[in-house]
Parts: sequence; C-alpha cells; structure tokens
Amino acid sequence: MRLANRDGRLLLLGADGTRGLDVAEASGGRFGPDPMVALASLDALRDWAAGQDPAQGAPVDPAALGPCVPSPASVFAIGLNYRDHAEEAGLEAPKAPMVFTKFPSCLAGPHATVPLHSERVDWEVELVVAIGRGGRAIAEADALDAVAGYCVGQDISDRALQFKDRPPQFSLGKSLDAYGPIGPALVTLDEVSDPLDLGLTCDVGDERMQDGRTRDMIFAVPELVAYLSRHCPLRPGDLIFTGTPAGVGSVREPRRYLAHGEVLTSRIEGLGELRNRCERAD
Ligand code: ZN
Repeated sequence: MRLANRDGRLLLLGADGTRGLDVAEASGGRFGPDPMVALASLDALRDWAAGQDPAQGAPVDPAALGPCVPSPASVFAIGLNYRDHAEEAGLEAPKAPMVFTKFPSCLAGPHATVPLHSERVDWEVELVVAIGRGGRAIAEADALDAVAGYCVGQDISDRALQFKDRPPQFSLGKSLDAYGPIGPALVTLDEVSDPLDLGLTCDVGDERMQDGRTRDMIFAVPELVAYLSRHCPLRPGDLIFTGTPAGVGSVREPRRYLAHGEVLTSRIEGLGELRNRCERAD
C-alpha cells in the first residue's frame, strides 16, 4: 500500500502516486479519515485495500499532500550512520547508534516550502522508517515485522543554529518549521523491493549532491529498531530518520548551502520523491 495524507485525510494511492482513493469514503466509513489511526490497524486496512484499485481513483496533486505520518509521538533520528558521511565530517564511525530527535512539529509535506532562517541551511536525504505494531525490546530478527513501511525524508539542518555553541544543538537546529519534509507516501514493506538496500539521491537544482545506498548504513534498520526499542517504547506511527550518506553541504569544499529559490529534490528507489523549494525567511 501507498498511504498519503491530504488535508488530514488518509488516501490510498496507486503505484505511480498520481491517483488515489479517500479511504474513509471508499470504505463507507469502515475506516476513519485519520492517517495516524490507520497505522495502528494496518492489517485490517491491507485486507480491505486488496479489493481496491486506487489507480482508478481521482487525480492526486502531490503538491497538495501533507506529511504521510502527520503526528507521531516520537521522531527519532540517527547521526553519522553512513561510513562515508562520518569520514567526510572528519569523525570516527560511532560504536553505538547516535540518537537525537526531530521535534514532530517540523514534519511537512513532500512539496513543502523550506524557509531559510540563516545562510547555512543544509540538506540530508534519509530513509525514514514508520513504526507499525511497535513494542519494547524487539529482537533484530523480528524488527521488520514491527515496521509499517518507509518514506523519503529530508533532515534539513540550520547549521548556524546547530553549531551556535558547544555542545551542538542537533534537535533544535533540525526542527524548525518544515525542516522534516516526508513522503510522498508511506510505502508498506511488502511493496519495497529490498528493505535493506535502496538507492537514495539528493539534488540541489540540477546538481547531484548525494548518491548512496541504504545497504551502506553502519546500523541497518533492524539494528536501529532493536536498539531504540531496548531503551524506549516504539509506538504506532513513530518515525526513525535513519541517517544520511556523504555529500552534505557543510563539509563540501567549498562549503555549499541552500539558497533562495533553489529546489531540493530527494529520491529513494521505489518510494518516490520530495521536491522542496527554499525561500529566504524574513
Ligand atoms: Zn540526518
């Protein structure tokens, strides 16, 4: 299933994302419109969706979509989870997952405008995991059963705010309004070709900045789910931003940051793309 959010209502999208069904309407009220409620009852939704043809539904404008998971209880994020990114940052690869949070208010739709509050706003394309059943102390072998699906995410970072003083403020510098665009849809794992190996890219305008594969994560998705759930409960709809590959702007030579009018395009194989225009904030 490809599950999207338009005006707070759950949509079931067809494979190319251009058409879809309003789940509450199409199910005659069997399912409510709230995308968060659906995440807690995915099995029932999947049974119903098997009899639907969303590709025959009404046209869907991706620019009108909100975040596919609009109000998770927790948004975990992992720093330095690709060896090439740790190397470019001049830091040793971590021995345990480096965990911080993006506050849920930063989540935004796949075409949200990104306000630039400083001259040092940076990009980080990331695979985002949405928790389905969740739980505590989930074994690595069972971890993917606790996951609802994946979407594309951008861990947009105001490096001026993040590195204003020591120690750095990861959570605040990465949680300004619209600094967590996700989508375009939550893709359930049965539709993902290989949950542990997907290509991901990030372009600024026509320039390719990042080009990686999720198999190069230091801590793969099952390890992250197991590690986090050992310390905190994972609840339906919780998100995990799983880290970014090499190519961010703040460690390039010369340094490169997002500028007014530029469009940031983030893609993950089989999941779709985000297109976020950047605008100077006054
Ligand atoms: Zn990140």
